[in-house]
Amino acid sequence: MLHVNENYGKIQASYLFTEIAHRVAAHQAANPGADIIRLGIGDVTEPLAPAVVSAMHKAVDDEASRENFHGYGPEQGYAFLREKAAAADFAARGIDIAADEIFVSDGAKCDCGNIQELFAGDVTIAVTDPVYPVYVDTNVMAGRTGANAGGRYDGLVYLECNAENGFVPSPAALEGAPRKPDLVYLCYPNNPTGAVATKAQLQQWVDWARSAKALILFDAAYEAFIRTPGIPRSIYECEGARECAIEFRSYSKTAGFTGLRCGYTVVPKGLAAYAADGRPVELRPMWTRRQTTKFNGASYITQRGAEAVYSPEGAAQTKATIDFYLENARLIKEAFGKLGYTVAGADDSPYVWINVRSDSWEFFDVLLKRLNIVTTPGAGFGRAGEGFIRVSAFNSRANVLKAIERISKL
Ligand code: PLP
Repeated sequence: MLHVNENYGKIQASYLFTEIAHRVAAHQAANPGADIIRLGIGDVTEPLAPAVVSAMHKAVDDEASRENFHGYGPEQGYAFLREKAAAADFAARGIDIAADEIFVSDGAKCDCGNIQELFAGDVTIAVTDPVYPVYVDTNVMAGRTGANAGGRYDGLVYLECNAENGFVPSPAALEGAPRKPDLVYLCYPNNPTGAVATKAQLQQWVDWARSAKALILFDAAYEAFIRTPGIPRSIYECEGARECAIEFRSYSKTAGFTGLRCGYTVVPKGLAAYAADGRPVELRPMWTRRQTTKFNGASYITQRGAEAVYSPEGAAQTKATIDFYLENARLIKEAFGKLGYTVAGADDSPYVWINVRSDSWEFFDVLLKRLNIVTTPGAGFGRAGEGFIRVSAFNSRANVLKAIERISKL
C-alpha cells in the first residue's frame, strides 16, 4: 500500500492567501458592483523597466538565430549575470562575495524552500513570529516539526517580534528556550512587518551563530527598498557572516520579476555544517549538487533581463519604481497614522504594519465589507501577528489614493 507523506497533514488547512481569496470572492459575489481595491497580496503592479524589456527582446532575437541560440544554460546561472550581481550587489558595497558563490534561480521562494534539503531531519529550526510562511511550511513538509497546536508547531523555536523589540528579535530571546536552534531564518526588510534590522542587531545574530555552530538563512528579498542610511543590504556586511550565513536575493520586488521568475542564493566558499562525527562538510558543493540534479536553470531570456537591472538605465529605472512604491507606503502609513493607529514598516519596505487594536481577521472583514479594501490579517503570519494587519504598497497611485480616501472615513 502506498503511504503518503503524512507531514502534509500537519500543515494548516489553508494557505493564508487562499483563505483571503475565498473571503474576497464571497464578498464580490454578494456585492457584484463593489469596486474592490487589493492591498493584500504582495505582488508588484508596475510594468518592467524599459531597459529590462529591451534586453529581453534582444535575448529573444538571440534565440531566433543559429549563432546566438542558447539551450540549456549552466544550472548555477550564466556568468554574465553572476558577475554583474557580485560586482554591483556586493563588491560595490565593499562586501566579499564572488561570482562563483552566487547561484541564480527561478526565485527566492523556491530557494528558501529547497535549502532545508541540505540539513539533517532532526535539526532544530527557529523562525520569527510573525513569519513568511514558506520557511515554516517547507520544514513541516520535511518532517522537522510535530503537530500544530494553537497555531504553533511542536519542535519549532518561535522568536517573537513585537513593538517592544522593534520587530527584530535578539539572540538573547533564546535563553530559556527548550531547544537551541541550528538554523535561524531571518528576513530584513521584513515581510510582513516592514521592519529593518540594524547592523548591530544582525552582528549579534552572526556572533551567536558562529559560537553556536548554527547557520542563518537570511532572506534579503526586499533589500532594494532600504533608504535609511546605515541599514545593511546584506548579512555579509557583518563580520564573520561568510562563516555562518546563506543569503537569498530576488529580482521579484527589486525589478518587478514576480511573473518572470529570477533570484539567486549566495553560499560562500568554506561555509559548513557538520557530519554526525563532528567533521565539517562544505555546503556550497552540496548546493551545487542539489541544483545540478534538480534544477535546470532560469531561462536565458530572463537572465538577460536580470542582467539589465545592473545597467545604468536599468538601475535608475528600477530605483524609480521602488521609490514610487515607497511613496505609496508613506501615504498609507500617514493615512492610518492620522486615524490614531500605531504604524510600523513603510520607510524601507513596501509593507505597512498596522496595530489595529482588535482581532486581525475581524478588522480585515471590516475593511473588506465596509470599505471594499483587501489587506492581510497579521494573525495569518503567526500568533504574534494577531492584532495587526499588513497593507501592501504594491498598487497604482490612483488606487492608493482612493483607498486612503475610504480609510479616512473609517
Ligand atoms: N521571500 C520573501 C520574504 C517574500 O515576501 C517573497 C515574496 O513575496 C519571496 C521570498 C519570494 O520571492 P520570489 O518571487 O523571488 O520567489
